[in-house]
Amino acid sequence: MGQANADLRVCFVGDSFVAGVGDRPHRGWMGRLVEAAIARGHQLTGYNLGVRGDTSELIARRLREECSARLPADRYVPGLVLSWGVNDVVRIQGHPRVAPEERRINARRIFAEALGSGWPTLMVGPPPVSDDEVNADIERLDAVLAAEAAQHGITYVSVYASLVDHPLWRREVAADDGAHPQDAGYELLAGLIAPAWLRWVGNLAEPTDEHDPKTDDAHLERRDPAGGSERLSAADEQLVQRARQVIDASTDADQLGDGAHTMGCALRDENGVIHVGVNLYHFTGGPCAELVALGAARAAGAQSPQVIVAVGNNGRGVKNPCGRCRQVLTDNYPEIQIITATGQGLQRTSVLQLLPLAFDHATEQNIDAETWREA
Ligand SMILES: [Zn+2]
Repeated sequence: MGQANADLRVCFVGDSFVAGVGDRPHRGWMGRLVEAAIARGHQLTGYNLGVRGDTSELIARRLREECSARLPADRYVPGLVLSWGVNDVVRIQGHPRVAPEERRINARRIFAEALGSGWPTLMVGPPPVSDDEVNADIERLDAVLAAEAAQHGITYVSVYASLVDHPLWRREVAADDGAHPQDAGYELLAGLIAPAWLRWVGNLAEPTDEHDPKTDDAHLERRDPAGGSERLSAADEQLVQRARQVIDASTDADQLGDGAHTMGCALRDENGVIHVGVNLYHFTGGPCAELVALGAARAAGAQSPQVIVAVGNNGRGVKNPCGRCRQVLTDNYPEIQIITATGQGLQRTSVLQLLPLAFDHATEQNIDAETWREA
């Protein structure tokens, strides 16, 4: 069901780096990425909405109006690529243009606006400049933006670490205006973004979630008449945050990911109480975080878990349940909703939607019982 000829329309919203300032052919990284996607057969129109000097505040103000004009609802396949940051931390008379506490708030505003508008979103982090003091701020902001993007299920490409000590990048930025690279620098930057970009464009062109509740199998219709997925409520967002806090506070893994506790889970029960758990990895089949949280909820008296979400450690964001957990949830809590990361951001989905044509344990038990009685 892929849409090989899907008509993709992608807005690139951001600052002077998005605009390609300093690049003599003036394609910047955006032009190079669009070129690479078209070379792979995608039908894609890219709109450059980079504005020199733009901060997160200014982008938040113009995002909806500028993008809605180019991404009309129900026509074309929309996409949004965001990139900002350097102008937030640049100081004017000793003061950063956007205060540190405002940077995260603005990111949340922008991400919520993008996802609320139904635009699948990719974010590119800010690149380093030639001033090392400013760079320290950029590095911190990069981490904040990456964490916020993960929370919203948005793909984030961090370029800072790859560029900060890169001789070519430093040389070109110094030779230009201390902030912008030249042709080879933009080529380098585009190369860092390209793998994630091409995967993302591939997902836009071939959405993986194409279930039509009307035509899906009877099993789904019977047990999930509503079908479909929903956007997150404020309570759901809180649940995601809780799962992240739990694993951040208790992971024993380093950045390479080795550890017994790498996933956190939070679930909300029928009384609105939140229960949590972390996984306990072991090669013999240690339980996932979801199963631990379900057991903990039961031990605390919960009868009917309503919504569940799992989040990875080290800022890996929301992770969808494994096959075993989907089956366990289907058999024991068929009414439960799962917060999942999708190409459209985070969504709340029925477990039955996540396991089409599932083995129906309960029905099988009944059939066996009857067959046994007849025999
Ligand atoms: Zn699992």
